[in-house]
Amino acid sequence: MEGKACKKCRIIITRGEKCPICGGNDLTTKWSSYVIMLNAEKSEIAKILNININSIFAINIRE
Ligand SMILES: [Zn+2]
Repeated sequence: MEGKACKKCRIIITRGEKCPICGGNDLTTKWSSYVIMLNAEKSEIAKILNININSIFAINIRE
């Protein structure tokens, strides 16, 4: 898995330099572990991570 994670939203971006959620560009490649969120409305993990869209999210962001 390659990509950059938004430090604020944790979403992983594989193309571009801009976060699709917050529109910010505070991205990092220093992340590890990710979850693929397919059912954010019903997912317990999504609640814990405060996620409400279906995408890929980093669990650990270092820095
Ligand atoms: Zn963001």
